[in-house]
Amino acid sequence: MTLLAVLVLWSAAAAFVLFFVFVVLRLQRKRVLQAFPVPVPGLKARMNAEAFEPVVVRHALERVVSLWKNTFSFDATKTLDMLKIEWVVGEDGERFYWLGDKRVAGHASLHYVSIAYLESDRLGQTAFFHEVAHVLHRAQHGDSDNNHLEPGGPWTKDTETLINRLKSEFA
Ligand SMILES: [Zn+2]
Repeated sequence: MTLLAVLVLWSAAAAFVLFFVFVVLRLQRKRVLQAFPVPVPGLKARMNAEAFEPVVVRHALERVVSLWKNTFSFDATKTLDMLKIEWVVGEDGERFYWLGDKRVAGHASLHYVSIAYLESDRLGQTAFFHEVAHVLHRAQHGDSDNNHLEPGGPWTKDTETLINRLKSEFA
């Protein structure tokens, strides 16, 4: 094979791979938009439903950024901008849902929180700020610290103080 033929083949293969990646990313984006149709104004963060006013959620995330920076010297802006928020109506009139065989008020992963709520709730009554704290400890330290106050992880009394302050601000 000539050098030219090799180059042409490689370019074709590279173009194909790029096209494939492009298509996969587009499909992924479409799935995200379908699963989280409600934008949080001014941010790229999105919600699955309007369980709470989008402007209230935006204000809440801004307060998180501000307090997190003051307390932990970490800029949470980019992490929270990517956040996907899933609101789940609480089961049996309580602020819980079943996650497998566990009864939880919410849970968190990389850029995602899932929160149980009741129709009459204020944002501060839900586990929203608690789960966001898991997301941010993971972003800052690579450890969401599901053991909370048990020693050895980033979750400290400062985390709890910060969460309680946000909960009362949005109560
Ligand atoms: Zn937790």
